Amino acid sequence: MKSEHPVHPAPAGAAARKAVRPVICYPVENLPRPDLTALQAVRAGWVKTGETLVPPRDAAAFRVPAGHFFRIVSVEGPQVGDLNLWNDADLSERFYSGKTRALHGTHLSTGDRMWSSFPHLRPLATITDDTLDWYGFDSFGGAVHDVIGTRCDPCTHNLLSHGGQYHHCCHSNLTRALAAATGLPLHQAESHVHDVLNVFMCTGFTRDTGQYFMKASPVRPGDYIEFFAGVDLLGALSACPGGDCSAEHSSDVATCHPLLVEVFAPPSPPQGWVRPARNGYDRTHGV
Ligand SMILES: [Zn+2]
Repeated sequence: MKSEHPVHPAPAGAAARKAVRPVICYPVENLPRPDLTALQAVRAGWVKTGETLVPPRDAAAFRVPAGHFFRIVSVEGPQVGDLNLWNDADLSERFYSGKTRALHGTHLSTGDRMWSSFPHLRPLATITDDTLDWYGFDSFGGAVHDVIGTRCDPCTHNLLSHGGQYHHCCHSNLTRALAAATGLPLHQAESHVHDVLNVFMCTGFTRDTGQYFMKASPVRPGDYIEFFAGVDLLGALSACPGGDCSAEHSSDVATCHPLLVEVFAPPSPPQGWVRPARNGYDRTHGV
């Protein structure tokens, strides 16, 4: 955090330096845009091909073929979910939270993509609907579906609680779910777990100290966020032990609810859609 009492005095011209206007690092006008109309059109006549109920304080894995859709649905009560996505054929290609944040901002909604790790950097999934899009940003600077948090984990908990052992943080839940879905040993599976999309979680940064905050999720049963799969996906979703994340996580204190994942097959591929190619950089790195 920035010190309230800086050691070094402001130099002459400090006010002018601070008054320089920011520029957007990655203008999205330069990104290839998804044809949302074409993607949304093929939902007419889609067929539900499967569903997975994620138990509270636990995670479950699911698979979505390229060209199909999946929804994460709130059921029973307000609940936050931590989502990991991998290329089902190559776990080294996985969701890249940091670059997605750099491209689309701190919180995602309809039309944003979940980009994959280097050197692939292609859209693993496109968000095609979000019933919480009305929320926008609140007066605290909070919004839902962030890519700024990481996932609650037992290691940070161990540090902050002076040695505490808690086994149902999202990190551990995702690790167990991936191990069960792939047959990988637990510690190998753990190395593939990555920073998440915090589904339904309401978060932001405090204006005075820049600290990461959370507040009660506005999600209610029936709300959902919907994705179109760009490649064959393996997903894992944890129903966070923080419940609606209004108070605390990394414990069994919060009231928790299940989350539902539904998978849908459209009657035909979206018009003009092709599977996204791996990134075009030649990887010679100047050598
Ligand atoms: Zn969590």
